[in-house]
Amino acid sequence: METPTGGRAAIYTDSKVTIDSLKNHAIHDFLIEKIRYIIRHLATLSWTIHLKWVKAHIGIEGNETADKLAKEAAQGNENIIIAFDRIPITSVASEINRKGLEQLQLQWNNAGAGAVCRSFFPYLVQRLKMNIPITPEFTALGTGHGKPRSYLHRFKLADDTMCLCNERQQTSDHIISDCNLFEAQRGPMINKIEDSEESWPPAKHELTTKYLHAFSIFVKSIDFQKLNRLVKYLELWCQVPTKRTSSE
Ligand SMILES: [Zn+2]
Repeated sequence: METPTGGRAAIYTDSKVTIDSLKNHAIHDFLIEKIRYIIRHLATLSWTIHLKWVKAHIGIEGNETADKLAKEAAQGNENIIIAFDRIPITSVASEINRKGLEQLQLQWNNAGAGAVCRSFFPYLVQRLKMNIPITPEFTALGTGHGKPRSYLHRFKLADDTMCLCNERQQTSDHIISDCNLFEAQRGPMINKIEDSEESWPPAKHELTTKYLHAFSIFVKSIDFQKLNRLVKYLELWCQVPTKRTSSE
């Protein structure tokens, strides 16, 4: 239905806060903005709107009725028909988004898999706002999947989980925090963190938020292909005599 033009309306409210908020242009509450928008829109259609404050509880019939309806609605009176079609579609959409995200967050918190990834990104809302330079290396370290030997071994793509440094299993944790093969690349990242008066290693999610820049440079410096090919080469080299013996 089209809004008629050139009308006049007087709105009486006992909410002084609402009237004051409408006048105060530093206030940008969703509902206040919505009311301003409607008033501006009506003004473009040559409407004149008067907003007036009335004292509460002094027997103004309309005001008493509005109070009564609001109270009943708040107490969950099922006989009141709530006009859902008057709720702005944007409010509904953001409410659905919020609820959906809450639900996802719950599932994320309780999921059996994805522990490594969760330690880097515990909060989904925060993750959605992040602008992260996602590369295969970043994904590998952030999830523990794809490239570290501990993962390759699970899928029989590596004979064991041992890192090339020969000290510990090659997990994403090991590469980031203590593999001596990456000492040089890790240095600037540690310096950056210690400059902020925090101790190394920080919580994982701090690497992807507070120290994202230094962490990204570190991640970029890791050449998994070279690392794993070198492992493969060393394995073959070690296996040559055994293989020869068995084939002879
Ligand atoms: Zn290592």
